[in-house]
Amino acid sequence: MKYKIKIILDKIINFFLPRTCFYCGADLKTKTLLCEDCFKKVEVIKGLICQRCGVPLKYGGQYCYNCRGSKATKYKCSFIRSALKFNEPTRALVHAFKYEKYLNIAPYFAEVMYKTFKQNPEYLETSFLVPVPIYKSRQRKRGFNQAEVLANHLSKLCGIPVLNALVRIKNTKSQTKLTREQRKENISGAFALVKGMEGQIKKEAIILIDDVCTTSATLEECARVLKAAGAREVLALTALRE
Ligand SMILES: [Zn+2]
Ligand SMILES: [Zn+2]
Repeated sequence: MKYKIKIILDKIINFFLPRTCFYCGADLKTKTLLCEDCFKKVEVIKGLICQRCGVPLKYGGQYCYNCRGSKATKYKCSFIRSALKFNEPTRALVHAFKYEKYLNIAPYFAEVMYKTFKQNPEYLETSFLVPVPIYKSRQRKRGFNQAEVLANHLSKLCGIPVLNALVRIKNTKSQTKLTREQRKENISGAFALVKGMEGQIKKEAIILIDDVCTTSATLEECARVLKAAGAREVLALTALRE
């Protein structure tokens, strides 16, 4: 009986897993997401990074240009880390996950995010993982919110519960072609606290979860709403960093 269940499970898994590399399309011998060559191109973020926003720093120092000096204290999101660099193979993975609904990619991202989580004691004294929400019509079309899927998987690893404390109230246009300033403007007022959440988040430290961090404008806007509602501290953790 157990054997039969295993066969059925394998069939289901085989059905969902492509036998080709998500990036280059090479045939795969084992059930992995990328071929060996493409996996080699996946870069874990380590070494010199900005102490606040986690962006890799080419020339060292403590903070990046945007966080330097008194700027570091003006942010509502006090600590951002990401697991992997956004490059061609990781972009292919996040694309397949979000737009082609390969949800089996999520556990891989959660695993690398958990490694980053464990390396940063800042995350330990937190109460909730709060996924960055997407607009309801987009979520209906996609069938899921990628940040929530990642948070759910990560929660199983780190033991911190997921709280859907935020809602997206503005269907913002794509941020990809916008400058840093335009992104800030575009995302301003896009989020609100879910009704009745004040009591739960008051005085708590929270980790925002998202798939990709680019200028951190989205995380900052979410953090602003959470802090205005009484959260003590807002940190963030994303799978990729652009
Ligand atoms: Zn490949
Ligand atoms: Zn920075």
